Amino acid sequence: MSEKEMDKVNLLNFDRKGMEAFFVEIGEKPFRATQLLKWIYQEGISDFAQMTNLSKSLRNYLTEHCCISAPEIVVEQNASDGTRKWLLQMNCDNRVETVFIPEEKRGTLCVSSQVGCALACTFCSTAKQGFNRNLTTAEIIGQLYVAQNRLGSDKKITNVVMMGMGEPLLNFDNVVAAMNLMMDDFSYGLSKRRVTLSTSGVVPAMYRLTEECDVSLAVSLHAANDALRDVLVPINQKYPLKELLAACRENAKISPHRTVTFEYVMLKGINDSDSDARKLIKLLKEMPAKINLIPFNPFPEAIYECSSSETIERFRSILNNGGIVTTTRKTRGEDIAAACGQLVGKVADKSRRHLKLAQQAAREIAK
Ligand code: SAH
Repeated sequence: MSEKEMDKVNLLNFDRKGMEAFFVEIGEKPFRATQLLKWIYQEGISDFAQMTNLSKSLRNYLTEHCCISAPEIVVEQNASDGTRKWLLQMNCDNRVETVFIPEEKRGTLCVSSQVGCALACTFCSTAKQGFNRNLTTAEIIGQLYVAQNRLGSDKKITNVVMMGMGEPLLNFDNVVAAMNLMMDDFSYGLSKRRVTLSTSGVVPAMYRLTEECDVSLAVSLHAANDALRDVLVPINQKYPLKELLAACRENAKISPHRTVTFEYVMLKGINDSDSDARKLIKLLKEMPAKINLIPFNPFPEAIYECSSSETIERFRSILNNGGIVTTTRKTRGEDIAAACGQLVGKVADKSRRHLKLAQQAAREIAK
């Protein structure tokens, strides 16, 4: 963003409600919001002068005081399987990664919510990067904006998963505003079933999400007992399985057809035994649940190995026979390190503040 732009109001920061409030504040009618959303997200126009259904004076005002500023692409990589990854410049020394995964009938964008991550899941390479800050709404929706513009009209983004860098529920307001934009008919108009938020289990924020924003929920479970989950997903020490599953059940009540997806990373000799599978069935009985097994993706300094494909298949069939619909996530974009848990970007880590920030964030959501 240029220095001049930095003093301007970036309209990518507003969902429809925010945009309406902005227009009322500058003495305009609220319906200007939907006109602007259409220009920005449906027409791909960022030059206010071209927004012909606005009055000349409003166009001038917007040119002088506002901007439409999305992150810039630093590197674009294309994998042999069609997966595309973009390294995006945020500010100062911060960069995050966004991944597009094409499939036969859909195109999924994996979006980041924070620069780095304040949590310390022991099998995730983003965790090793430390944490710098939350992304703004503009930087989150901007990933979709940049990717869709880059892909052009023949490759449409039909699904979004908040599964990139960061814990989305620790950046609640900005993530929800961005997801509102993804689903807004005047913007991208994605259906709520096609926008998925994945969380490590920030329980109070899960209840808030259930109340405020109807998107699909995925939960990074990874273990069927607290002792192991405390190690793999340390936020479990604060919000153990019993509380986590209660929050999931509440979310599932939103509609009778709803299921919660549980992600389960397959770690050799750690969580992949037959007895682990049986414990998982017991844990999730009476929950409208699906399980998505994720083959562990290695990275330098990783202390785990991926379970063998035979073990994964065996684990999957025990779960399926136990009545839980279970799929194995296909690893995509491996040759460009675009797979789950491999996104690293560039994080100007505020390590000394790392712990303090994590505690502060936890206190905030506990309020
Ligand atoms: N913080 C959120 C979203 C980020 S990651 C969350 O925890 O859900 C999206 C998924 O990738 C999570 O299920 C995460 O546990 C998983 N993941 C992280 N590192 C991985 C790795 N090295 N291999 C496979 N999956 C991984």
